[in-house]
Amino acid sequence: MLPRGPNLRPRPPLPLTRQYAVDPSLPQRRRPFTTALADTGILYALAHRSLYLEKFLTLYGETVAVATAVADEIRKVAGVPQVARPHRNLVLMGACADRLVKKLDDKTITVHEPSEESVELEAVVQQQLLELDRVAAGRRGVAWHQVDTGRAKRHHGEMESILVAVDVIKAGGTAVLLTNDGGASRVAWEQGVSARNLRNVLAELACADPTLKEEELLTAFNKMTAHFATLPTDARPADSSAFRCRGLAGKCSSCDPLMG
Ligand SMILES: [Zn+2]
Repeated sequence: MLPRGPNLRPRPPLPLTRQYAVDPSLPQRRRPFTTALADTGILYALAHRSLYLEKFLTLYGETVAVATAVADEIRKVAGVPQVARPHRNLVLMGACADRLVKKLDDKTITVHEPSEESVELEAVVQQQLLELDRVAAGRRGVAWHQVDTGRAKRHHGEMESILVAVDVIKAGGTAVLLTNDGGASRVAWEQGVSARNLRNVLAELACADPTLKEEELLTAFNKMTAHFATLPTDARPADSSAFRCRGLAGKCSSCDPLMG
């Protein structure tokens, strides 16, 4: 029996001060979803430490997926020639993109296109993402322009990921959005989709592999997010206990009481 996943029933509104929408019904240990939609940021962060990219892909198996726009973004960066990368500040990102393209090519990461039925939702999701940007810019005292193409492009991957997740749930499956972006997590929540971030993924790895030390995971988390996918402050781990499996002797039912 598949575990209870997110559903599309209306959810309680999030407090405005909440930067990252944490789904309180999801435990520390990984619950398998039909499809886990990863956004560009979390994938670059994982690819920055390829050991953890491999561990993540092994744990998630065939459920790892990206939306078409995310695959396109990664392929575009990987397509920048090595010689052109330094002056475009793409050396690090390019190396990560190269690793990820291999996973797209061998179909370890599958690519999903939003359904034609999701077109109506597209405008809504896009508007919600832009609105959160506007609010965040206002809070920082920065001028914000809706026509900023960089921003619109950045949101394209997140928007499509949310649309695909909604498609999966509407088709009777379960889906989760993997993102470190607080805005994307909030918009996903509004659409009935739960989000998980790199902190959650590393904690899931701790439950799956008792040889992983919590201090190592905290160090890895800090290194992975130093360049990519900064996590909002209210979701960042305070210390290594965020990556502690409370299980004993290979059983970690305390990390997910429902699964035993
Ligand atoms: Zn555990």
